[in-house]
Amino acid sequence: MAIDVVKADGMYITDRTGKQWLDLIGGISVCNTGHRHPKIVEAVKQQLDAYMHVLVYGEMIESPQVEYANWLTNHLHSSLNSVYFTNSGTEATEGALKLAKRVTGRTQLAGFNLSYHGSTQGSLSVMGDEYWRNAFRPLLPDVLHLEYNSFDSINAISTQTACVIVETVQAERGVYASTGEWLLALRRKCDSVGSLLIMDEIQTGFGRTGTLWNHTAMNVFPDILLLGKALGGGMPLGAFIADRALMAALTDRPVLGHITTFGGHPVSCAAGLAAAKLLTASNWISEVQDKAALFVTLLRNSGIKAVRSAGLLLSVEFADETIAKKIIDRCIEKGVLVDWFLFAPQCMRIAPPLIISDNEIKKACDVIIQACDEIK
Ligand code: PMP
Repeated sequence: MAIDVVKADGMYITDRTGKQWLDLIGGISVCNTGHRHPKIVEAVKQQLDAYMHVLVYGEMIESPQVEYANWLTNHLHSSLNSVYFTNSGTEATEGALKLAKRVTGRTQLAGFNLSYHGSTQGSLSVMGDEYWRNAFRPLLPDVLHLEYNSFDSINAISTQTACVIVETVQAERGVYASTGEWLLALRRKCDSVGSLLIMDEIQTGFGRTGTLWNHTAMNVFPDILLLGKALGGGMPLGAFIADRALMAALTDRPVLGHITTFGGHPVSCAAGLAAAKLLTASNWISEVQDKAALFVTLLRNSGIKAVRSAGLLLSVEFADETIAKKIIDRCIEKGVLVDWFLFAPQCMRIAPPLIISDNEIKKACDVIIQACDEIK
């Protein structure tokens, strides 16, 4: 895009020439509270005045980590009561896969076609798209890649399987949601064979789909939950969260089963906690479904093949990748920042900060429809 950014505030990003973009991607589901919310900036500044990095994660009691872990566990199912903070989403995936291997003593991992869990080698191994994996082989052995939302594919999960990693919505496929029935069947299968169920809510967490966590809306709970992106309120942060009894498997033989220098950086935790408090104190999450419905209503055009929405995670599908790219580029020229998806280049990504107003949605949709008409 080559946007030479000098400022980002609320819904807008400004470049060196003074041109402004209405941001419909929010740093890829990171900036749920908009850019630089004053409360988050204040929390960051306060933490900078106290201390930044002091020692590798876990060696000292750092109150921003403790307070944020408390907030998270207070807002999660009682079985998700132990938080391991990481630098990123993919590091959370790595930690969770390692934890599942230690807890079960098994090595087989299962993931789903067209799922994305990060770009490091363990995450790549369970990622569900051969085009993105192939150049980096050999990857981890003994990985099952199953069909998403297929009841039949669940049969392949067995007493050999350490864990099953699943997104509650496959974002990079172009927004395909799982059904509650299927997630429940997956949960039951994992229970029956003793596999851990890892849910990746890195993109869907923190209100994106209209509830604080997407899995609670379906009433199906993971053994390990992955968080990232909006977790840090605009600062880098990830986490894998499990029951203390499971997490204990990382404390013995070797004593430090997962090591990270910067994981849970105090400035990131301070920012994340401020953002999380803002989300739960505001109406932003409860407004998500209405705002999503407004997008869906307004995004009607003969060039648009489909619009899929999981709350304010939306995918607008065009005839093919070439047309999608031209329309995306035209929107960006016109000051509306949109993007594509890794496994769905024929689709436009819309995942704005949750603070977006109805007027901004209308303006954005006008621009997208104009771009569709111009590119036909
Ligand atoms: N899981 C999902 C569902 C994601 O969308 C992403 C990032 N796009 C990741 C994991 C990896 O996060 P990170 O880029 O912070 O490593």
